Amino acid sequence: MIAQRTLDHSIRCSGIGLHSGRKIQLILHPAPEDSGIAFVRSDLGIEIPATSGHVTDTRLCTTIGNGKASVSTVEHLLSALAGLGVDNARIEVSGPEVPIMDGSSAPFVFLIQCAGIREQAKAKKVMRILRRVEVSDGDKYCALRPAAGFKIAYHLDYDHPLLRNRRVEIDFSRQAYTREISRARTFGFLHEIEALQKAGLALGGSLENAIVLDSHRVINEGGLRYEDECVRHKILDTLGDLALAGMPIVGAFEGKRTGHEMNHCLVEALLADPSNFRIEELQAAGQTTENSEIEKARPQQA
Ligand SMILES: [Zn+2]
Repeated sequence: MIAQRTLDHSIRCSGIGLHSGRKIQLILHPAPEDSGIAFVRSDLGIEIPATSGHVTDTRLCTTIGNGKASVSTVEHLLSALAGLGVDNARIEVSGPEVPIMDGSSAPFVFLIQCAGIREQAKAKKVMRILRRVEVSDGDKYCALRPAAGFKIAYHLDYDHPLLRNRRVEIDFSRQAYTREISRARTFGFLHEIEALQKAGLALGGSLENAIVLDSHRVINEGGLRYEDECVRHKILDTLGDLALAGMPIVGAFEGKRTGHEMNHCLVEALLADPSNFRIEELQAAGQTTENSEIEKARPQQA
C-alpha cells in the first residue's frame, strides 16, 4: 500500500502577489487523512477547498472561491504539492492571491521539503482514467486517456521564434518533478505585460518572477533555466490544474496550446461522467508523481 502524505509540520513564507503587487503571508499546515488540499483566507476566516467545483476564474491564472472569498494563482503551489505527492494540506493565505515567488514552483518545493513530508495511516487514493476525455477549440486541445502511470505531454506553438512547435513529454513515474519541472518560470510577452500593467493587473510582475520575451528573444539577463523552459512551465501549470480533480490521476495527459481555462473544462468533463474514471487505493509505487520524489523526501524527515 502507498500511504497518503501530508507535511510533517507547519511552515511559512511571504512574497508579493503577481496581480495586486501586495505582500502576502503564506502558511502551509499538515492536514488529516482524506481532507485533501484546502486554502484558508486568514484575513477573512473563510476556507476554500482546492477542487474543480470551486474554480471561479481561469483568465491569466486559476482562481478558486467560496462566497466572497477567493484565492488566485493557486496553480504553482498546487503543482508543487502534487509533484511531491502531498495529498492533504491546509494553506493559509493572508490576501487574495498566492505569492508569485520567482514565477516557478521551486520555492514551494523548497518550503515543503523544509517542512518535511510525513506518511499517514490510510492508503493514497487515485483517480484512474478509464476512457479518453477530450476538450478542443480550433487547433487547441487537451485530453486524458488511460495509461499505467502518469504522464503529461505538452505541445507549445506560438508565432514566436522561441515558442514555435515545441513538444515535451514527462513521464512522472520515471522523471523527477523537482529536477525536470519545478524550476520552470511563468512567461509573458513584453507588449502584453505593459498592457496588463496599464489595466492595473500584473502589478507585481517583473523580471524577478517571469521570463519576459520581446518579439525575438528572452530579455531576462540570466537567460533560461531550461532550454525549453516555457513548455516545461506549461507542464507545471497543467499539473496544478489537474490537481483540482481532487486526487492524483493515473493516466496520460496530452495538450496543444491549452491553458488554465481549457484544462479546467477537461477536469469538469472528466468529473461529469463517473464512467470516465475509477477511484482506487494506490497499491504500488510508480503510478503517480511522488514515486521519483519519495526517496529524496525521506532523508529530509530524518
Ligand atoms: Zn503558471
